[in-house]
Amino acid sequence: MYGKLTVICGPMFAGKTTELLKRILWARNGENKNVLVLKTAFDNRYADTRVVSHNGLSADAKAIRRFADIADLSREAELVCLDEVQFFTGMDMDVVEFVSDLLHGGRDIVVAGLDTNWKGEPFPATALLMAMADEVIKLKAHCSVCGQPAYKSFKKLQDGREIVLGNSDIYEARCNQHWIAERIDR
Ligand code: ADP
Ligand code: MG
Repeated sequence: MYGKLTVICGPMFAGKTTELLKRILWARNGENKNVLVLKTAFDNRYADTRVVSHNGLSADAKAIRRFADIADLSREAELVCLDEVQFFTGMDMDVVEFVSDLLHGGRDIVVAGLDTNWKGEPFPATALLMAMADEVIKLKAHCSVCGQPAYKSFKKLQDGREIVLGNSDIYEARCNQHWIAERIDR
């Protein structure tokens, strides 16, 4: 048996975590499946043991630093979900390899994450998983300037840092035109 891989991607505030939570609920309550939800210990914006959407919806999750720590749990799970998949870097194993092993073990996987950073550059983990996926759901947000469909994350804060964990204090969703018009490499 080989599992199914679904990737939910898009810019910030597109509803990626909301879509992931919906699938967790379906599997847990509707299909009575054993679902393992993972986040990185790095992403502590809302809570350490929950995946939380910007609307405040949430589900129990394991915050991990090493994949080795959840080896047993992932073997028992029928569905494994990862939120903010682009942050699963610098760990004991490459996230793409972790996902591939689980698929070979017959587990279904749903990952949610940013496809590009605020510069518009692809996050490698998301990009590779999108290529491997059976289903890719690319969501859009609304541009914070004009309300049109937004495919980009815009960084408001000028601090010279490439990756900054944040919410609407630092980022907003923008359409291509309002993203490029004010974007400075900062
Ligand atoms: P994502 O995981 O893609 O960042 P979420 O699923 O967590 O998105 O939440 C998206 C929803 O969050 C939006 O549809 C909107 O209703 C809500 N939301 C709450 N605060 C904000 C904000 N400051 N800007 C945009 N959307 C927000
Ligand atoms: Mg999210």
